[in-house]
Formats: sequence, structure tokens, C-alpha cells
Amino acid sequence: MKTAPPRFKNMKVLLAFDNDGVLRDESGSYQRCVTETVSFFDRGRIATPKELRESMIQSNNDWERTHGILMQRGVRVGFERVKRHFQDLYLGRERDFSGYINDEPWLADNGLLAKLAEMQRLVIVSGAPRKEIEYTLGRNEASDYFCFIWGMRKSKGKGDGLKKAIALFRPELTCFCDDRPSPIKSVLGLDLNNLFAYGILPPHAGRGWRKTLLDAGAREVFSDVNEYCRFLLDSFEAQEQKGLV
Ligand SMILES: [Mg+2]
Repeated sequence: MKTAPPRFKNMKVLLAFDNDGVLRDESGSYQRCVTETVSFFDRGRIATPKELRESMIQSNNDWERTHGILMQRGVRVGFERVKRHFQDLYLGRERDFSGYINDEPWLADNGLLAKLAEMQRLVIVSGAPRKEIEYTLGRNEASDYFCFIWGMRKSKGKGDGLKKAIALFRPELTCFCDDRPSPIKSVLGLDLNNLFAYGILPPHAGRGWRKTLLDAGAREVFSDVNEYCRFLLDSFEAQEQKGLV
């Protein structure tokens, strides 16, 4: 049984969402870019599952992961060339969003986002480039629900992005959600009053990931973003029924 976040009544609440692994499933498209970029620079030898797994531990950045695998194989190629080829596959050679970005499943139920957006402000705080987030929102008809996006270049990490969002909107309560432990630790490290961090299990989450997110400090962990949205809506609606909101 999930518990409602306390003190929702009459409050201006900022709902900050992570993008990758929460709103969109980028894992397949990124993995395909890593695999095929490695193959391109190393005579058709694609990245092995073991290389993919180990590179994931070494870096959260997929350009660095790809470059790292090639370096470990002794292939001498510059980081910028690797990144350029990766982006050719991901966004298309003309950067016209014609690449694998179009294969990413959308994870959110737009009906739930719409209901939340009627009640409170929704923003995205993400490590992905802002243009890619905007494209994904547009492709999935979800642009109207989010009033601001902090992407890769707009902020130095999750904690910084969230601090900027709070400074702009001055909420009384902030609910943040993410699928990885480091952002949860980073926002809790801000030591702000009235900030709740929740965990969302990403698609294909391994066993034990729920505990990983709880250990990072998540108040609760939800199976997906829709379960989290329903939890928030229930919290608001329970207050409404009592005539509190
Ligand atoms: Mg994420």
C-alpha cells in the first residue's frame, strides 16, 4: 500500500520528471548506436554483451561508452569522430531526427499527464539534450503538459537543474522522480525542505533495482511512471474530496 505524500493541501507543487527511462525508453536505440558505431570503426566487429555491460559501469554517457570500448580494443580513433558517427545513426546524418530516435517507445499515459498538468506544474530535468527531449515530446503529443525543460546544457547535473526549476517556480513542495540512484542522491544532497524524491523502475530493470533506488534515498519506488502519476493524482483527489484543495 502506497502512502500519499503528506501536506498536499492548498499547495503549489512542482512535479519534476526525469526523461530517459521514465518518459521514454531510449535503451534499445542507444544500445543499437553503441553496437553499430563500434562495428563501424572496428571492421564490422560489433560490441559484445560483455563489453556493453562493463562499459555501462564505467560511464553513463553513451558516447564515452562507445569510445571506451574501441580504446580497450586498441582501435585508435578520436572521441569526436566516434560521437559524430553515433549521432549520424541516432539523429540522422543531417541531424534531422531521422535516425533511431524514432524507434523509442513512449512510456507515459498522456491522459494521466494531462490530468496532472491541469492541477500542477510539470517540468523535465534531464541529462539528455533539450532538442532531443522536445522532439520526443512532440512525436508523442506530450509537449503541452510540460512547462519547462532543463536539458544537458542548461544545467550541471540533476541537482543543479532541479535547483534552477525551484528558483523559477518557487513551489511549496517539489516531487522529483528518476530511474537511477545517482540523480536521487544528487537532489537529496541539496538538503532542501519539502523535496520528495521518488524512484521509477526503468523498462528492463534488473532484479534488485527497486532496492538500489530505495538505498539511494527514494521515498518509494513505482513500477513505472503511470503508477507514479496515479499515486500523485490519488493524493490530489483525496484532498479535493475533503474540500481541502
Ligand atoms: Mg533516467
